Amino acid sequence: MLFGALEAGGTKMVCAIGNEKGEILEQKSFPTLTPDETIPGLIEYFKGKDMAAMGIACFGPIDPVKDSPTFGYITSTPKPGWKNYNIVKVFKDEFHIPVGFDVDVNGSLLGEVTWGSSKGLQDVVYYTIGTGIGAGVMVNGSLLHGLMHAEAGHIMMNPENGDTYKGRCPYHGRCFEGVASGPAIEERWGKPAKELTDRPEVWDMEAKYIAQQMMNTILMYSPRRIILGGGVMHQAERLMPLIRKYTLEKLNGYIAVKEILEDIDHYIVTASLNDDQGIMGAVKLGMDALEES
Ligand code: ADP
Ligand code: ZN
Repeated sequence: MLFGALEAGGTKMVCAIGNEKGEILEQKSFPTLTPDETIPGLIEYFKGKDMAAMGIACFGPIDPVKDSPTFGYITSTPKPGWKNYNIVKVFKDEFHIPVGFDVDVNGSLLGEVTWGSSKGLQDVVYYTIGTGIGAGVMVNGSLLHGLMHAEAGHIMMNPENGDTYKGRCPYHGRCFEGVASGPAIEERWGKPAKELTDRPEVWDMEAKYIAQQMMNTILMYSPRRIILGGGVMHQAERLMPLIRKYTLEKLNGYIAVKEILEDIDHYIVTASLNDDQGIMGAVKLGMDALEES
């Protein structure tokens, strides 16, 4: 059985066809311009592909709440044309198949717990640390929605290592995304993150901010595992040992479970699907939508 998958991002749209084993059979990327410029190419891509259902893992904030009047909408983006845009309706009207819809990070989380190294876990938080920072949350095997979805990338941070950088989130300044995203690293240190590999102080500060968020995450969601993905985590070799060490220091023994105290290497982990977790998660969103229909 074939499923259409769309990973809708702020800079590019990845379209793919996958099967129920999570295998991606073909895939193509399109730049994200305005809906009028972008959507026709995506529809053209999926035409005639014999899809049983589709899944869309979309940049947020969105409305993924099924009984909400604005289900399927991208809600409050600054991106021209996409604010209050019903992206689900476009594909439903065109293809008349079930369309699953969730925020991109919930999609990546779903990919990891369905086909990645966190297969079978039911309480997991997934972060993407890239151009922005987002968190996908699964509790008791269900993706957390509530009013919409978690936006844990925007929790406020305390300054680390005497950091005086004002932060770059237009809403909150020094929130996690404001101080620790790829563009924040670049603005603070004056060079793209990937050109700063010879500056240990960059990664020490980054790891401390991520560790603050690991502590917040453990205290709030009590997950059985935290997965870190996104472009900045391409520096995993530098970051992961420090993130684990600082997380333990900040928790200071308060959460006394052996999974954290004795085995943090398997508790805070990197994404395992070679940056395909998002598009594979979109396939699973399609599979779930078919099952529910
Ligand atoms: P997006 O968040 O736009 O979907 P990515 O997850 O790839 O895309 O994140 C892009 C960000 O990741 C950029 O801001 C860039 O600075 C950072 N980045 C990309 N590659 C690296 C790398 N090798 N090392 C550190 N940072 C990187
Ligand atoms: Zn913010």
